[in-house]
Amino acid sequence: MFSLVVPIYNEEKLIDELLNRIVPAILSFTSDFELIFVDDGSTDNSLTALRGWQQKEKRIKIISLSKNFGHQAAFTAGLEYSRGDIVGMMDGDLQDPPEILAEMFRKITLEGYDIVSGRKTGRKGKSNRTFFSSLFHLFFRNMGEMKEMGNYGNFSMMTRNALSALLSLKEKVRYLPGMRTYVGFKQGEVEFVRDDRYEGRPKMSFLKLFRLASDAIFSFSKFPLRLCLVLGILGTIVFMAAGIYVVVAKIYGFAVIGWSSTLLSIYFLGSIQLLFLGVLGEYIYRNYKESQNRPVYFVKQYFDSPSEK
Ligand code: UDP
Ligand code: MG
Repeated sequence: MFSLVVPIYNEEKLIDELLNRIVPAILSFTSDFELIFVDDGSTDNSLTALRGWQQKEKRIKIISLSKNFGHQAAFTAGLEYSRGDIVGMMDGDLQDPPEILAEMFRKITLEGYDIVSGRKTGRKGKSNRTFFSSLFHLFFRNMGEMKEMGNYGNFSMMTRNALSALLSLKEKVRYLPGMRTYVGFKQGEVEFVRDDRYEGRPKMSFLKLFRLASDAIFSFSKFPLRLCLVLGILGTIVFMAAGIYVVVAKIYGFAVIGWSSTLLSIYFLGSIQLLFLGVLGEYIYRNYKESQNRPVYFVKQYFDSPSEK
């Protein structure tokens, strides 16, 4: 069986179009599938629309979360509920073209890949997000432990085996594209051009995207800590040299009124220290999140396929 997980947050207007495209796209390679929609606490009629569709298309299952947990949590919920031998993840706004699923499925079933990620090679329509997204991926890749990771988002497919590995990572701060790369297995990719949103505004605000990017960086790299250490060491060397100069100047009596240099070094040291405290804070915060050990999401209601009731 094939499962497709799709998170939905206030997307009532595009659910019809979404299903009209997903179902034929999947039917082109299998008829044994389930569609798992995760309603991430929508406040519009998304859930009603999905429930309506469930009467027409019996292979739909809906998980309704107790509130908005964010799309990484929504994906996690859907993946945990999925039963397929091969499981796909796709955004619900038709930016990931469902027609690509067939190619992913082929790579897994015929070429022996365990994980196939969609690599974004471009984007239709105008968006300033592309720039920030590329910048993030460039930084993320070169920062350390994730050299293999391409310009991947959530659009992907994997075998049950790889998914079990992914789901065994119980971290609370979740960055699924990174976690998917981290687990290993035979990884492949399919290139695609990201479409413009079918309808509406992105539900991931810039703030949410910024948080996701920092979650990704802080959970997969010690680069920020390393940077603090290196700058700290450099600073120490510079100021030791300066200290020697000050002592020498004092001894030989050419010390002058050092108002600007004093102020500048206070400002400089003060701000560097605040910055480093901020970086440490990010790690402490994440550590705290992990030790609180709260579930990643709560399910309010699960609507199984009508046929299986
Ligand atoms: N989404 C969600 N919860 C959220 C934000 C978004 O489930 O808190 C869903 C949204 O409905 C869409 C997918 O996640 O199906 C991707 O969201 P969006 O298009 O806003 O993200 P972007 O394309 O900017 O990455
Ligand atoms: Mg989108």
